[in-house]
Amino acid sequence: MENDNINKFLKIPKFAKHVILVASGKGGVGKSTFALNLALTFQHFKFKVGLLDADIYGPSLPKLLNTNKEPKIENKNFLPIEVNGLKTMSIGYLVPEETANIWRGPMVIKAVTQLLKDVAWGELDILIIDTPPGTGDVQLTISQKIDVSGALIITTPQELSLLDVKRGINMFRKVNLPILGLIENMSYYICDECEKKHYIFGKKSSLKLANNLDLEVLGELPISENLIKKYDTQHPIIKQKKDDVIFKSFFDISQKIQKKIKI
Ligand code: ADP
Repeated sequence: MENDNINKFLKIPKFAKHVILVASGKGGVGKSTFALNLALTFQHFKFKVGLLDADIYGPSLPKLLNTNKEPKIENKNFLPIEVNGLKTMSIGYLVPEETANIWRGPMVIKAVTQLLKDVAWGELDILIIDTPPGTGDVQLTISQKIDVSGALIITTPQELSLLDVKRGINMFRKVNLPILGLIENMSYYICDECEKKHYIFGKKSSLKLANNLDLEVLGELPISENLIKKYDTQHPIIKQKKDDVIFKSFFDISQKIQKKIKI
């Protein structure tokens, strides 16, 4: 009870109507790629969206957006870097990668708190936060400092990735972070020749895990070079054809999220 009161006292005032965490059990499963494209999907549907890359140990947003601008400071707050109207902030804009990835404990908590508190986002409908793989100081700090609508867990269909997800989910539940569901990335490959979906790592593996953990799989995404084309050379997939399989997957996922968190 006493701890609850202390946490409430320390909470950062609300600046986004909804905060969604994007998390994963392990690295390299497409968490950052997903977070960016989900942000673009919500932006496409006219929501005011911010994307915060809080992956302190391996920020990838500057690379994904191909930008190395330094955020300006106004009234002691960082101004987000806007790329095609999407407001973004990343620890990677503020310090060199080799600096942040050796931080531990108090340094990490301080950096995350600053990213949550000192960015002038303006009014946001949705803030999407890309968190480091696993569950640690970053997720704990976020859960204590702001109200989170829910977390999305990104996984790939391989067994090892799913094992890490299971561990991660238990940790999220311990810190009372609501989990909105799983997203299976790199689920299948669509062959140019036959246009069929090939589930090369096994079909519906995440679904079994989700059922066991009483969770929902909110979507499956294909292995596709379209999804990862550089932001500056191509318009991101989300801004291309509306009938594309990837666009449709993101559209469905965004709809399910909206329902779950009642946007
Ligand atoms: P994480 O944030 O989990 O470490 P990233 O988003 O950085 O993962 O993705 C890891 C690598 O996999 C990157 O090279 C990315 O371009 C690639 N990737 C992610 N999703 C897909 C996909 N659906 N199809 C093909 N490549 C992908």
